[in-house]
Formats: sequence, C-alpha cells, structure tokens
Amino acid sequence: MSSESKRYSVEISDPELVGALEAADNRSEMIRDAVRQLINGDAPNEMDGLEETHRVAYEWLEGRGAVSLGEAESSIAVQTQLNKDLVRISALEPLEQMGLVKVMPSMSTVLVKAIPPVECFACGDDVPPDKLGDHRRAEHREVSADE
Ligand SMILES: [Zn+2]
Repeated sequence: MSSESKRYSVEISDPELVGALEAADNRSEMIRDAVRQLINGDAPNEMDGLEETHRVAYEWLEGRGAVSLGEAESSIAVQTQLNKDLVRISALEPLEQMGLVKVMPSMSTVLVKAIPPVECFACGDDVPPDKLGDHRRAEHREVSADE
C-alpha cells in the first residue's frame, strides 16, 4: 500500500451483504473488487462476477441434480463457512432470484437444484437466466419487448 492509501469505515445493515462479508476470506479485497467493478462497469462475465458465497454455493449444487434442502444447507454451510441457518437467505435465495437455483417442494422434503446460466447471444457471456434482460440493457443498451 502506498502513502495514498486511505481507510474507510462503512456501516452495513443489509443481512445479505453482512453475511457475504462475514464469509469472505478478505473483506477489504472483496470491497475493493466490488468498487472497482462498479467503476469499470464491465464485469467481463456475469458468472465470474458472482459474489464468492453465491459462486461457491452454485458450484457445489452444479451437476448434482436435485438435492434435499437440508443436505444443500449443511454442505454449503461447510463450503462457505456461513451459519447453516443463513445458507438459505444468504446463498440460495439470491441464486434463486437470479434464476440459477430452483427450490422445489416435493412430497416429504424440499429439493434444490442448480439451473445452468444462459449465453448472451450478443457477447457470448454466461449470464444467470433471470439477469439476461438486465445484462442486455446494461451491456448492450437494449430494450427488449418481451419484458
Ligand atoms: Zn452480452
């Protein structure tokens, strides 16, 4: 760090952000990366741009088919060092909102399954299914009629 280095202290109350920061190996690095990405505005690949917790959770689920919610919570808790009770809200729900995870109530248990990303036809990036509209608007200034 140069003598130009400055310290900032920020207050964060969003439990999702707090959970992600608590789980990070290097909080400062995570925040620097996020700010850099915001300034540059061009995360090269939306899947690469996933938060660490979400990426780790997704990678655990990927290729496993449907697993029970309890099993997913226990294993993802170990992988991400999140509290097991926080896995659903901090990892599975954000992934579900991006369309990368499907939570399916079945007869005796709740099943969780990874959904593959879709490829943007314009730039070839892998994009979470439900983020494609946002991606196209942000990266390609497109307004789509189907949304
Ligand atoms: Zn694109």
